[in-house]
Amino acid sequence: MSDERIVVVGGGLVGLFTAYHLLKLEYRDITIIDRKYIGYGASNRGTGGLLHIFEDEDLAKLACLSVNIWKKLDEEIVEKPRPVPLRTGGHLHVATSKEGLNKLDKLKKILRRTCGVGEILTPPEVKEKAPIIDEDEIYGALYDTLGSKVLQPGVVRIFEFYFKLKGLKLMKYNPAKNFKVEGSRVKKVITEHGEIEADKVVITAGAFTKDLACKLDERIPLCTFRGEEALTEGLHYEFEPFVTFVENNFKFTQTWPRGEFIMGISNTGIGEPAYDLRANLSVLEKNS
Ligand SMILES: Cc1cc2nc3c(=O)[nH]c(=O)nc-3n(C[C@H](O)[C@H](O)[C@H](O)COP(=O)(O)OP(=O)(O)OC[C@H]3O[C@@H](n4cnc5c(N)ncnc54)[C@H](O)[C@@H]3O)c2cc1C
Repeated sequence: MSDERIVVVGGGLVGLFTAYHLLKLEYRDITIIDRKYIGYGASNRGTGGLLHIFEDEDLAKLACLSVNIWKKLDEEIVEKPRPVPLRTGGHLHVATSKEGLNKLDKLKKILRRTCGVGEILTPPEVKEKAPIIDEDEIYGALYDTLGSKVLQPGVVRIFEFYFKLKGLKLMKYNPAKNFKVEGSRVKKVITEHGEIEADKVVITAGAFTKDLACKLDERIPLCTFRGEEALTEGLHYEFEPFVTFVENNFKFTQTWPRGEFIMGISNTGIGEPAYDLRANLSVLEKNS
């Protein structure tokens, strides 16, 4: 058990998981502060895909470990208002060109080495798993049976509920502005509404982590990517897998129980216009 005062700056999924693991390590004095509400940032907006198909082998390994963490969460957090919203319907990495299919072959080798799963499906086999996809428009898909989806805002609310039960301090609408350092240690977090004494500070402010770390003369090589996301209204739920198109990284799946289609795309060109999502909406128009 530790009485050290820990301040977690940023109440997104990274901050919440950090606090959760600190609780497991028996830290008892934990404060989470957020500039808006808990889960205000990317964690309230994400598509929630737990995916394992990566060109980078280390990322694939990390992703394989993480899916088990999510599965265990439901058993570990017993006191919760509802089950952890997680579904394991697989992930289809779809190719719409010959080059895309060749790339899937390379990705399959990495996936098999790192996670021990992965098979190439023919267009009719893809259609069987995901009837919404037009088999005439694709060349095949890499199927990752471990692929899952999680409702990110639902997980945020479960953590918030759980932390209140456990007596963590949750301070909303209280942006961190700076830090007070003595010697080489951070002693206080200076916020818009006062100072918070701390023995240890964890900065998990998402895209703003870099700016806050700069105040401590720490340079973090983070950069932001522009993306686009779209969400439909609730539709009849019929679509289990998570789908990614290998050519342009367009992703979509269906949420439950409301049945919204959630889709997103990101590119790596900072400040450049992202890919136009409307081109891919035809997949829904044809099937709705
Ligand atoms: C459209 C979209 C789709 C995505 N799809 C997926 C996906 O399919 N799969 C996947 O794994 N990931 C996905 N992601 C990424 C995933 O959502 C993020 O990686 C994750 O939510 C990041 O969590 P975080 O806690 O680091 O950041 P955030 O959720 O952004 O949390 C940071 C928090 O810090 C707070 N904060 C900022 N500055 C301060 C300050 N000065 N003081 C106090 N608080 C501060 C913010 O208000 C915010 O609540 C997606 C993201 C987006 C936006």
